[in-house]
Amino acid sequence: MIEIKMGEVFDEIKDRDVDVLIIGAGPAGLTAGMYAGRAGLKTVILEKETIGGQLSLTDWIEDYPGFPDGIKAGELINLMKKHAENFGAKIVREEAKKIEVLDGGLKKVITGSGEWKAKAVIVATGAHHRKLGVKGELELMGRGVSNCAVCDGPFFKEKDIVVVGGGDSAVTEAIYLTRFAKKVYIVHRRDQFRAQKIYVERAKNNPKIEFILDTVVTEIKGEHKVEGVVLKNVKTGEIKELSCSAVFVFVGLIPNSDILKGIAKLDDRNAVITNEKMETEVPGIYAVGDVRSTALRQAVTAASDGAIAAMVAESYIAENF
Ligand code: NAP
Repeated sequence: MIEIKMGEVFDEIKDRDVDVLIIGAGPAGLTAGMYAGRAGLKTVILEKETIGGQLSLTDWIEDYPGFPDGIKAGELINLMKKHAENFGAKIVREEAKKIEVLDGGLKKVITGSGEWKAKAVIVATGAHHRKLGVKGELELMGRGVSNCAVCDGPFFKEKDIVVVGGGDSAVTEAIYLTRFAKKVYIVHRRDQFRAQKIYVERAKNNPKIEFILDTVVTEIKGEHKVEGVVLKNVKTGEIKELSCSAVFVFVGLIPNSDILKGIAKLDDRNAVITNEKMETEVPGIYAVGDVRSTALRQAVTAASDGAIAAMVAESYIAENF
């Protein structure tokens, strides 16, 4: 992977004036970059942190078409990045902070290192993990509390781990964590799962996984590192403590939609509302992937959003500039 320094810009785009500016280099942004680049548009993808978005936090992808035996998430990201770059998209490590619409419809995107002008902007900023909001969570973050099994799982070899949540993230990451852990407890507030059945069945058949259902974590305990959790059964009210060395919290995603606040309409979860063409209310500004209000959040739907937005942006640019 090319190491790009914050604020470093390639010669070809030194004027900071592009056709399409994409904010975020996850599957949605990289695919938008690939399609926009392939359409001959001068395309820049801004990324403030890690290329790959949510994919960079997971290990293995088994439901992306074309890879019947599954693929390492890191490898899929690298392929998407290479594909976008092969068609001319440039990835620049900068954080977009503000979007302004100028007279004539041109957009100005202000970053930590300067500003960009673009005819169309595709917002692919993704989402971040929701916090549990209990005592000990923030205090012990990085000292046993984590939202990334791939990053932190290997630190807990032969230890007991608690995973909180009942969605795809919680169940798939719990299964991944059994590679390292002695035991993984999945603590979920209901007895029904949002996670796909195939994952739940796999977890049920894993001898290292134990489910603790109808239960919430009310506190994460530990002086300098995680030592245990306080659990409350929401049906019986029973409270008990469980000792563990790590707590992985996967209780949903919050869209990173701040940059579009006051510009585009957001739903009650703060996800950006678009039409089926990925258009926001503002002509030439699109939202794609996990930041968008959508029924399914998968790498393949993010990629699809990106492709649609890039093609719609191409027509918009041809008609308006
Ligand atoms: P999610 O599907 O929204 O599930 C969040 C889980 O956390 C739910 O079980 C929810 O419980 C629970 N929860 C929410 N707030 C809580 C709280 N305050 N305390 C305790 N529990 C709480 O989120 P996700 O699992 O991160 O998945 C996000 C998206 O990515 C989904 O669309 C998912 O399908 C997708 N994804 C796909 C894969 C894949 O392999 N294809 C892998 C990971 C993620 P309730 O059910 O009771 O609301």
